[in-house]
Amino acid sequence: MQLREQINYHNYLYYVKDAPEITDFEFDKLFKELKELELKYAELVIPDSPTQRVGDQPSEKFEQVKHRVRLYSLDNANNDEELVDWYNRIKKSYPDEQEIEIVCELKIDGLAVALTYENGLFTQGATRGNGIVGEDITTNLRTINSIPLRLFDVPDELPDTIEVRGEIFMPEDAFKELNQRRRDQGEQEFANPRNAGSGSVRQLDPRVTAERKLSIFVYGALAPGRSEDISTTHFGNIGVLEKLGFKVNPDTKVCKNIEEALAFCKKWDEERAKLKYATDGVVVKVNSLKKQHELGFTSRSPRWAVAYKFPPEEMLTTLKDVAFSVGRTGAVTPVALLEPVRLAGTMVARASLHNADEIERLKLRIGDKVYVKKAAEIIPKVIGVELSQRSEDSEPLVYPERCPSCGHKLERKEGEVINFCPNFMECKEQIIGRIEHWVSRNAMDIDGVGGSLIKQFVEHSLIKDPADLYQLTKESLMELERMADRSAGNVVKGIQASKDRPLGRLINALGIKYVGKETADILGQVYGSIEDIKKASFEELEAIEGIGEKIADSIINYFKNPEVLNMINKLEKNGVKLKQDIEKTDRPKPLLNTNFVITGTLSTMDRKSASDIIKEMGGKVTGSVSKKTSYVVVGESPGSKYDKAVSLGITVLDESQFIELIKKLQAGGIDEVNE
Ligand code: NAD
Repeated sequence: MQLREQINYHNYLYYVKDAPEITDFEFDKLFKELKELELKYAELVIPDSPTQRVGDQPSEKFEQVKHRVRLYSLDNANNDEELVDWYNRIKKSYPDEQEIEIVCELKIDGLAVALTYENGLFTQGATRGNGIVGEDITTNLRTINSIPLRLFDVPDELPDTIEVRGEIFMPEDAFKELNQRRRDQGEQEFANPRNAGSGSVRQLDPRVTAERKLSIFVYGALAPGRSEDISTTHFGNIGVLEKLGFKVNPDTKVCKNIEEALAFCKKWDEERAKLKYATDGVVVKVNSLKKQHELGFTSRSPRWAVAYKFPPEEMLTTLKDVAFSVGRTGAVTPVALLEPVRLAGTMVARASLHNADEIERLKLRIGDKVYVKKAAEIIPKVIGVELSQRSEDSEPLVYPERCPSCGHKLERKEGEVINFCPNFMECKEQIIGRIEHWVSRNAMDIDGVGGSLIKQFVEHSLIKDPADLYQLTKESLMELERMADRSAGNVVKGIQASKDRPLGRLINALGIKYVGKETADILGQVYGSIEDIKKASFEELEAIEGIGEKIADSIINYFKNPEVLNMINKLEKNGVKLKQDIEKTDRPKPLLNTNFVITGTLSTMDRKSASDIIKEMGGKVTGSVSKKTSYVVVGESPGSKYDKAVSLGITVLDESQFIELIKKLQAGGIDEVNE
């Protein structure tokens, strides 16, 4: 049967070769399909069907070990309902009990091992293999520091022979380091920590294993050949293991009912990205060992445990093409165009490739099968290539030397990984990008002007920079395709209405490198006009709180560009307001023309709230003390600004004096501070 053969083939690649060709998610789908078929047609179930087996045959590279007690696999629960179904099945066996106590453990995505200890000494370590026979990897396991070679504090009642079960894994940091090394040496990288861990522990040379920084979490203990257990509960067993010197997972939890278990699964699905090792789910187990014995096993897995699988964060898909997009700053970024796949709840068709170095690192080719990953809140990215599925006639991808938009030769600054197009004023994509940014919500917020319209404006040479927007007329727009009289009128109205946006928005709209919305607001507050920002020196800018060397440098450079200055002149001519409009609101502004500097820590409010109060009342807050400063508000542990204020003879207010001043102003006790 074809499906069976397919599964056998993938099992072999996964367990024996440590080189899977498909993702676990895809494998699980095939497996589920076969299980469902076998459920429908019982005659199809044959003893060597993959659904009846655990893992795969042990590799012949190693001595084989017959397990004293069989190692099983786990049944999966792919969502909350399947987990609840499992719990309800268990409850059916115990009709007199309201709830069944269960234990939730993170499912470590590694390699299962069975460790034998005789009279406190580690004597044998084996892989799970097919559950009955595994591979003897004792020598390799001895190199892993978290596996005790001799147990501590062995209690008298501990049987002479115990078997400990656990998962070998490669911590995230070690995985990154290993792949970096392989990259440096031109070797193929491992696709994920599981393959890297499993490949490392199944090395013929134990020195290789020793270098790989593997670790273990243990999650089970048994006393082969003895009827009584080491403890009465699963959680009790884990406690014993910890005392004996084993590494157990600190996030294991005993849950009173299934609701608590579901909450555990949800929490860890959200937080798993923070862990320093890979986990692909939660293993939920009945806590009572007596009940575990009663519930027993199916041919492949225990009935008393289930693996709740997290939705996949990683998928294998085809790289259809790579597009090179040019941003508004001229940066050229490669974007992977993918055969759409569902990842963590959304369809993904594009993924980031960052820059030329990344393409080089991945050694990408069009048509490759690539692993795409989407971790919480992160844009999907291509993390690896499945070389085994590369077609023979594919060609290496060539990074363009010329701008895909304007054809200008690309440049790369020393020490930077980004290639960029220096044709700032003429490159269409950059122009479009800058205007898109100009009209965006946090900038000039122009309604009715979106990406496709901007593209038309630029393609029809109606505009070349944002200032040209304000010269557009209804008549000029009517020349565009599908532009009716009314909509043309609305577009022009929308653009004109943006002429007197607050200064902070305008500064943000300029798109100065490293100047985002917040910095733009600060600049607006401190300087009050574009003209004054233009005149500011590097030292002055750098002295402002929230503005560092890099930003100051970028602002200075921006205003040195004659084309920028030309555009600013045009903006002014076209009636765009380039100054702070402070007189306009009705509220009294008693702090008008008053400059404040705040230094040190305030105890009743943070500096931002203090600044907001000052600005609300028309005052300015600047980062450095100068002769123009009216007041310096001093909190706890003030910096050198306090000394400077004293030396310049500027009025210093402590926190309570400041609050008093504000209160008086708010109550109307003083009309204006600066007459
Ligand atoms: P499993 O990984 O779903 O569950 C059983 C295993 O979980 C145990 O053997 C143990 O190693 C591990 N485990 C981790 N933490 C544990 C804990 N706290 N308690 C108990 N066990 C814990 O089952 P499996 O039989 O090892 O393998 C099936 C998995 O392998 C599936 O996820 C499947 O997708 C994947 N697989 C993938 C391919 C492929 O081609 N991509 C092929 C075969 C199998």
